[in-house]
Amino acid sequence: MTSQDTTLAASASRLPQERRVVTEIPGPRSRALHERRLAAVPPGVGSVLPVYVTDADGGVVVDADGNSLIDFGSGIAVTNVGNANPRVAARVKAQAERFTHTCFMVAPYESYVAVCENLNRITPGDHEKRSLLVNSGAEAVENAVKIARYATGRQAVVAFDHGYHGRTLLTMTLTAKNMPYKQGFGPYAPEVYRMPLAYPYRWPTGPDDCGPEAAALAIEQITKQIGPTNVAALLIEPIQGEGGFIEPAPGFLPALAEFSRANGILFIADEVQTGFARTGDLFACEHEAIVPDLVATAKGIAGGLPLAAVTGRADIMDKVHGGGLGGTYGGNPLACEAALAVLEEIEEGKLTERARRIGEIMLPRLRALATRHPAIGDVRGRGAMIAIELVREGTKEPDPELTARIARRCHENGLLVLTTGTYGNVMRFLPPLVISEELLTEGLDVLDAAFES
Ligand SMILES: *Cc1c(COP(=O)(O)O)cnc(C)c1O
Repeated sequence: MTSQDTTLAASASRLPQERRVVTEIPGPRSRALHERRLAAVPPGVGSVLPVYVTDADGGVVVDADGNSLIDFGSGIAVTNVGNANPRVAARVKAQAERFTHTCFMVAPYESYVAVCENLNRITPGDHEKRSLLVNSGAEAVENAVKIARYATGRQAVVAFDHGYHGRTLLTMTLTAKNMPYKQGFGPYAPEVYRMPLAYPYRWPTGPDDCGPEAAALAIEQITKQIGPTNVAALLIEPIQGEGGFIEPAPGFLPALAEFSRANGILFIADEVQTGFARTGDLFACEHEAIVPDLVATAKGIAGGLPLAAVTGRADIMDKVHGGGLGGTYGGNPLACEAALAVLEEIEEGKLTERARRIGEIMLPRLRALATRHPAIGDVRGRGAMIAIELVREGTKEPDPELTARIARRCHENGLLVLTTGTYGNVMRFLPPLVISEELLTEGLDVLDAAFES
């Protein structure tokens, strides 16, 4: 089946798949809960839209006031298979009634092994692989770096401008953006180096030569500043998520992968946000046929249960000494059952095709919107990972204020959207891959109306 044949048919849903605004948003119940929260939770933990959720299913999120919002966030690309997906819920429930934890490092269980077998099978490349399960994207990235250092005996790690890799000490160091991720949290981890990214919209000589030019610049700087023989790993998201849904210009990733291979540097793909059918491929690396040495995954892996993984070449992964890797909760049995359900849903539900179809619907609508509103400087993305970048008219100067205003207007009208980007001027759209075409179109109508006002 080609993506043209795929319609976004609504699957059987527990909740009505509708936008329903019955109070102001956030409404009185959510505002009261928010007051309680402010007295109990530090403000360092933010919320994009403080409506307090009571239910969610398919493409909608329902709040304490009875509003039903169209979900263009998927909890940051996590609930790709839909929230409380029935197959996920059933497997988790059954597992919770058998055993909830033994610690895989104490007494193991089959589901952990089955998740790893699946990851080894579906991640890019048909070489022999191994996988290790942990709890969060940051933990996956940290472990990938540990393994790369161990396997190469080298220390330096190369990361990229606009990259985001997490909030732990090492991963915030690897992250490019200071505010809010790093400010005041130093000193940072050593031996992390940052290189320029092939950002087509903002490349000084324009998008056409961006890929090869940026790759040549990065390779020159690595060679000059670090020395390739000192570099353990090159770490990159195949599409920068928090950095603004930047698709690196064509040729950039293959050139870096080739340089890495030629110099004994391990190529680590951070597919935490891009993975599990989100971009219309199972993994975003497939788009340019990149085969990473190590892949970090999380977010979409288990339908919202905390799970993450490092998958890599067997010869690299097998080097680390016994007991050198692990963690108390890593590969928790509930999360493993959820992941097995997610993988079945992705394959049976043809979710890569659905993701592509979502992109085919969204991109033309957004491009049309951009012709009417010059504040939309760029429309980009693949599959169901789509963004618009907002600028001051007639310039490329970022407009984070307008971005926040449009997002607020969408929220008030029952569309849950997220903003992102190094300059805070990108609206990103991450609908669940099971969203119906009607709801997707209605969400775009709400966005359209927000620009008109
Ligand atoms: C979210 C994210 C992380 C961090 O994952 P957590 O589960 O929040 O620790 C790392 N890398 C990328 C690309 C991400 O989007």
